[in-house]
Amino acid sequence: MTARRTHIVGAGVAGLSAALAVTAEGGEAVLYEAAPQAGGRCRTLHPADGFVHDNGTHVLFTANTRALDVLKTIGARERWLEPEPKGLPVFDRPTGAMRRIGLSPWSWLLPSRRPHGLTLSDLARILQLVFASKDCPVAAIIGQRPIMDSLIEPLTVAVLNTPAAQASSQRLGHALRQLIRPGAGRLLVARNGLGRDLIEPAVATLQARGASILTGQRLRMLLSTGERVIGLTLTDRTVMLGADDRVILALPPYEVERLLPSLAVPKAFEPILNVHYRMQGSGQRRFVGLTGTLAQWAMIRDDHVSVTVSAADAVIDRAAADVAVQIWREIAPALCLLGLEAHAHRQPETRVVKEKRATIRQAAEPLPQPPVRPLANLALAGDWIGSLPATIESAVMAGEHAASILRHAPGGGPPVSRARPLKREDAA
Ligand SMILES: Cc1cc2nc3c(=O)[nH]c(=O)nc-3n(C[C@H](O)[C@H](O)[C@H](O)COP(=O)(O)OP(=O)(O)OC[C@H]3O[C@@H](n4cnc5c(N)ncnc54)[C@H](O)[C@@H]3O)c2cc1C
Repeated sequence: MTARRTHIVGAGVAGLSAALAVTAEGGEAVLYEAAPQAGGRCRTLHPADGFVHDNGTHVLFTANTRALDVLKTIGARERWLEPEPKGLPVFDRPTGAMRRIGLSPWSWLLPSRRPHGLTLSDLARILQLVFASKDCPVAAIIGQRPIMDSLIEPLTVAVLNTPAAQASSQRLGHALRQLIRPGAGRLLVARNGLGRDLIEPAVATLQARGASILTGQRLRMLLSTGERVIGLTLTDRTVMLGADDRVILALPPYEVERLLPSLAVPKAFEPILNVHYRMQGSGQRRFVGLTGTLAQWAMIRDDHVSVTVSAADAVIDRAAADVAVQIWREIAPALCLLGLEAHAHRQPETRVVKEKRATIRQAAEPLPQPPVRPLANLALAGDWIGSLPATIESAVMAGEHAASILRHAPGGGPPVSRARPLKREDAA
């Protein structure tokens, strides 16, 4: 049997998905990751004091079929649970009330599951958003109505991590078209966290298929003829490519731009800020939406509560401790309503994680998109490729697409024997 070797740079979700696609067909994959561990923006932090938490809560929807397929492939689908099957509890700080809303528009047929303030004319505007033919800011379609605060703004920043005043109606419309399918709007979270329920099983599956994952290896430079890549200069080695080897750069746009400066890539980003409070949570995962607060949602785990501020431009440069105090005071009443012991003036041990470039800014303007295969044997992957919301789903799709187009790319040389020794690096 013969196989080409695919060198995948970046072991985030896109790189791992590319490697799963390559190895599914018996291909050979080597991953190079700059960080000490795989996962990229989906990672669990393990500080010395034992307060283990994700960088930030990640949700999937049942609409994210490609991501769910990856979970099935790596044997982790059952670890993603629906924390709120009866509808999302939403705490409204100004009124102090908690009520459930349905995430699927079909559930809005029940008055008790409707977002606050939803009227028939709002539904017409939401339909306009779902089927937007021209791109414009989400807020330009919805206008200043109660539904903006109770549904549209939180939904827009959750999906696009960009405020509704700027966010692309077409990108949001795409997500909404997926979500309105019956059964597609169920929200899922990792039972034990991103490391145990996504990244570790992906790495284990790849290793079982013979793939290598080399961490602590930053790609410093691509060696190329101008038409094809011939080598990779990494942290402590240079890897020269075989004639038929391929490369996938599963990297954020700013790294792609550094390595291939002639490519036009998106340059604007939006931050996400997460605060993790170490406290007795609940045995059952809980997920609550928040309105009238700095944060938009909170996830309750056994031993901590994680709170998310998306599109966090307004707070990202504020002192972390001040932001954490404000958020705690705002959410403590919501946690009490969910049965937790939480006192506004007794803040638990706190960790703040700031991701300044959490996603690209997904505004209603054309984003630069480089060709997916800028060199004969090199393809790009990453959540920012394409016109879908930049999420786990788009990262999976981009990784799989990159693997697929290289598989079908005309070969540059003879197939490489699978028996070829895996590492062929010359120490730099
Ligand atoms: C706080 C937060 C919350 C989020 N919430 C959600 C959510 O609820 N749902 C959802 O679907 N999505 C969410 N996202 C988005 C999701 O995390 C990303 O879309 C996805 O992880 C992107 O994967 P990626 O592989 O494209 O990029 P990355 O995860 O950025 O992977 C790129 C990898 O390349 C490595 N790398 C960079 N430069 C080099 C180099 N020169 N050489 C070698 N390696 C390099 C990096 O270390 C990284 O591991 C969230 C993101 C954040 C930050």
